[in-house]
Parts: sequence; structure tokens; C-alpha cells
Amino acid sequence: MAVLPGGSAAGPMNRIEWPDKKRFAFTIFDDTDKTNLQNGLPFYDFLRDCGFRTTKSVWTVKGENRLPGAGSTCEDKPYLDWVLQLRDQGFEIGLHNVSSATSNRAQTEKGFETFRALFDRDPATLSNHAACGESIYWGAERLSGINRMLYTALMGKNHAENFRGHIQGDPLFWGDICRDRVTYVRNFVYNEINTLKACPFMPYHDPLRPCVKYWFPSTEGADVDSFTRMISEKNQDRLEAEGGACIMYTHAGNRFWNNTLDAGFKRLMTRLSKKNGWFVPVATLLDFLRENQGHHVISKGERTRLETKWLLHKIMLGGST
Ligand SMILES: [Zn+2]
Repeated sequence: MAVLPGGSAAGPMNRIEWPDKKRFAFTIFDDTDKTNLQNGLPFYDFLRDCGFRTTKSVWTVKGENRLPGAGSTCEDKPYLDWVLQLRDQGFEIGLHNVSSATSNRAQTEKGFETFRALFDRDPATLSNHAACGESIYWGAERLSGINRMLYTALMGKNHAENFRGHIQGDPLFWGDICRDRVTYVRNFVYNEINTLKACPFMPYHDPLRPCVKYWFPSTEGADVDSFTRMISEKNQDRLEAEGGACIMYTHAGNRFWNNTLDAGFKRLMTRLSKKNGWFVPVATLLDFLRENQGHHVISKGERTRLETKWLLHKIMLGGST
């Protein structure tokens, strides 16, 4: 347990000793919605030149009944070549379900085989795509007890109960594949630059949701506006002062590029890059935290607090993720 003297092993006041005397950690999980070569390449060239190495998710296959404008998949050769280059430059390639459209078990299995063939490994990180019926523990299944009832009332029964990847025997079931082949799955997103402050025990296992090895939370920044608001100078300075860790959840395809890369985004990320931060991919950060804290199984109280905080964020601030 690498905590500084005075820090407690479990409390939010932990100060983690980051590798190489870094003062804090910052990374991004990029949801691949709407991303193609045109808008993705300048975003990643910029991150790379600033010294960030983050996580880009992909869809391995086009799938059936794909919506127009969903974004590119690894079936697009020039796009795939670029994704492989990113991997070779030190970016992590994660998965956003195997396709932008719902996949049955056989299609998911095939999508995982394709991922392994393309990248020589299974994805360490995954985020559910909201349009996929096989999304795992999604909708109301993200929540328990009263929080789940509130969510269902808020979102409507159809949306809340539409996700079936964890239901054994269902044609969309792939929970065993998830458990065996994916290490980290993204869940709650918070309006807090220091993701580690929102969830000091990340990543964690939830025994109520056994098909996921470990869950990780993240920080709200779904498009260019909310992203740049979240990485304000004040928030950057606080993240650094708290010695925290930030996992931004964003969509690189969501208006960062509009014939040129957004000026506010560039300015703030350039400022952040000059700080003494640990800028590694999501799985690298989570592996490090897990080595430090060991296997954390979430308690009932911890689960209730995480769920309630997220639900409030969703209701009061219209959190999109
Ligand atoms: Zn998505």
C-alpha cells in the first residue's frame, strides 16, 4: 500500500505515491461514437505531441442495422491502420462493445476473436455502448434497491430494462466472455475532476454483478464543451494539489474537431501537459491502483454512496453518461 505517512488505507484522504515522482495521474477513456479518421487523427496527434497516452475504444465490426454516422469500425482499413499506429505509439485500445448495433452472443464472440486477431490480445478496458441491447449491467441494472426504482421511474421502463448481456440463457448473453476476457468495465461518471476522490477504492469488484471483474468510474466530459469546462485551470490545479487521478470519459468525435482542433481544448490540455502528471492509459493506471490497494470488493455502503451520487449527478446536472 503506497500511501504517504498520515494517509489512511481506505479514506478519501489517501495520498498515493505515483510512479517516477509524478504528482497526480490523468487519462482519458475515449468512447468511439462518431469518430472517424478525419476527426480522430488531429485529436490524437495533438494528445501524442503533448505527451499524453490515453485509451481509445473501438468497434471491431460494423454489425447489422448500424445507424448512419455511428463512426468508423476496424473493418475500415485506413482507420484500422491508424488505430494500430496509435497502439504502437503507446495508446491503449479498448472496446466499446464489438459493434455500434446490438450483437447476439455469436456476434459478440466473433467480435472478440477479431479484436484478438487485430491487436494480439483481449481488450483490458470496455465501456458499454448505450444503443446495444447486449450492454452489460446497463440501464437500471447499474443500480440497486431504491436507486434502481428511482432510475426506472426517471428513464421509463423501456430504457431502464433494455439491456441483457448479463442474463444467462438470453440470446444476448455474453457475461462469461466479459468475465474471462475483460479486466475493467466503465460504470459511474461524476462531475468531479479527481475521479479518485469520487471513488477512492477504484477499481472495485461488485459481487452483485459478478460478470465484471472490476468496475471503474470516470469524470464527466462527454463533448468538447463539458470536457474543457472540467479541465479548467482551477480544476487542474486542484487535481495536482490533491495528488489525485482523473479518468475523463469523452467522445473524441463530439465536436473537438471542426476544421481545426478546438482552441480552448488545446490551450487547457497544453497547460495540463506541462505539469508533472502521470499520463498513462486507463488500464495502466487501474493496474497500478489495484497493485496498491489489492482486490477491493465493494461493500453495501460504498455501493449505495456511489450509486446515489451518480443518480444525483444525472438528475440535477443532466449527466449524459
Ligand atoms: Zn457509445
